[in-house]
Amino acid sequence: MINVTLIPAFSDNYIYLLEAENGEVAVVDPGEAPPIIEVLESKNIKPDMVLITHHHWDHIDGLGELLKWNTCPVAGPASETARIKLLDILLDEQSEFSFGGERVQILETPGHTKGHICFYFPESALLFCADTLFSMGCGRLFEGTPEQMWHSLQKISALPDDTQIYCGHEYTLANAQFCLEIEPDNEALQKRIEEVQSLRTAGKPTIPVSLASEKQTNLFLRAETPEKFTKLRGLKDRA
Ligand SMILES: [Zn+2]
Repeated sequence: MINVTLIPAFSDNYIYLLEAENGEVAVVDPGEAPPIIEVLESKNIKPDMVLITHHHWDHIDGLGELLKWNTCPVAGPASETARIKLLDILLDEQSEFSFGGERVQILETPGHTKGHICFYFPESALLFCADTLFSMGCGRLFEGTPEQMWHSLQKISALPDDTQIYCGHEYTLANAQFCLEIEPDNEALQKRIEEVQSLRTAGKPTIPVSLASEKQTNLFLRAETPEKFTKLRGLKDRA
C-alpha cells in the first residue's frame, strides 16, 4: 500500500507526497517547492522520483528548486517534453512503469492539455488525475476538444468503484453548487454537498473522494454522450 500526504500549494492546488511500504518516496506535480521541502524535512525523507501530469506552471514550477535540494528522476508525459524541460522518463499508455514495487498504469487523458496523463495504481486503488477530473467537475478545455475530454473521463469511469481520486485542485464546493443547480433532486449530491461544506468549514480538504461517489454526483463523468458533455462544459464555462 502507498501512503498519500496532501500538500496544499498556492490558493487551491494539491501536491501529493507518496510513501511506499518499501520506503520509496515520490512527489506528484510540484507546483512550488517550499511547502514540499518543509513536509519532506519534517518526515526526514527525500524523493526518489517526481511524477508530472501536465505542463501547466502550477504543476511544474517547483521542479527546479526541488531537484536542486535533492536530485532524482522525473517522469512525465512523453508528448509534453517540449513544455516540460526536466523530464528523464517519458511516459505514455504503453509504458511499463512502477513505483514502490507497484505497477503504475499510465492513462492518456487529453482535453485539459493535449498530453495530460493520469497515474493509476491498481494495487493501492489510487488515481492521480490532476486537472482531468475534479470532484464533481472536470478541467477546462485549454488544448483538447470536448470529445477528447469525454473519452478521457470515460477511461476514468471504467476504473473500479473503490478507486480513490486525488485531483489537482480544491474546486469541490463550487463544482458541487453547479451540479446541484442542474440536478437539484439528486440525493447523493445533496448529501455530498453537506459533507463538503462541513469539511471546508473545518478547513479540511475534500480530497480524496471515491470513484463510486463521483459516479453518483459528478455530472461531467455521468454525461452519456460527447454532445451532453459539450453542453454541460459550455454551461460551466459561462457560470
Ligand atoms: Zn492544468
